Amino acid sequence: MQKGKKRKLRPAQHQRKPGVESTMKPEPVYDNPEVRGNGKLKDKVAFITGGDSGIGRAIAVLFAKEGADVVIVYLSEHGDAKDTKAIVEETYGRQCYLIPGDVSKESFCISAAKRAIKKFGRVDVLVNNAGVHFEADTLTELKTDNLLTTFKTNIFSFFWLTKALLPYMADGSSIINTASVTAYRGSWHLLDYSATKGAVISFTRSLSANLADKGIRVNAVAPGPIWTPLILSSFKPGDVATFGSDTPLKRHGEPVEVAPCYLFLACNEDSSYITGQVLHPNGGDIING
Ligand code: NAD
Ligand code: MG
Repeated sequence: MQKGKKRKLRPAQHQRKPGVESTMKPEPVYDNPEVRGNGKLKDKVAFITGGDSGIGRAIAVLFAKEGADVVIVYLSEHGDAKDTKAIVEETYGRQCYLIPGDVSKESFCISAAKRAIKKFGRVDVLVNNAGVHFEADTLTELKTDNLLTTFKTNIFSFFWLTKALLPYMADGSSIINTASVTAYRGSWHLLDYSATKGAVISFTRSLSANLADKGIRVNAVAPGPIWTPLILSSFKPGDVATFGSDTPLKRHGEPVEVAPCYLFLACNEDSSYITGQVLHPNGGDIING
């Protein structure tokens, strides 16, 4: 297999946005039951946007396994959200509080934060993870509505939710933002999306300096190609089939391979001297030549 050559790894398939995990073929891997929890987040409260499916679900499940209660904000995928809640509560014995709604609206971000605080009184780990992209092969095809939705969802919501939850986050808390490999590599067909992810990196670095005096660490994770509903609901079926095969590891990643980065950054005992940084679960950098 030559570098950069694409090979078929999955059946070609497509879904309407926002995509549903339970009908993906095959379903993403979100947990490794062989790995035992070690109480790294015992009795912590984590607030995770986009926690119903994909990377967010794997984070919610791993955090619960490590002893945390979780708040999950999601757009409208009620079936996926209920499945995640069942895993958190029945398999790992922690609470899972579901809040459906649209984070691209500041008023919803404020009300979601209020509901979470009413339920748990505080947040120890905030994971800004909800995201969306719309493919556009040329700049002229890029619709302004999609441009605005992408920026409001992928970066404005990170400001709004962080602002609303900050008064309830104490010394030792952690904020983790989901960026993307596209922030570094660029993406010819996701011009607006990759720009929002670049903004997520700058926001992370700036906020880390802003909140250092409060003892709150702020970091980011920049995944590469990961098998999630976002991919099926955004890309052409043929591209879905070969997704990730051009990385040095020659495959896409599974959400379960990304979530440990978030656990490391969430756990103050493990990452107490790390802030303003980015972890890169991406199958290796694609190097041309
Ligand atoms: P996903 O579809 O499983 O998760 C994204 C979630 O965001 C959805 O479940 C949806 O409920 C939520 N969401 C979208 N718009 C929303 C809105 N307006 N209001 C509330 N919630 C909203 O897909 P995923 O791949 O796990 O995505 C999670 C994050 O990972 C995103 O930020 C994405 O950009 C990022 N990411 C994904 C990949 C990848 O290859 N899958 C690579 C790099 C970065
Ligand atoms: Mg979803």
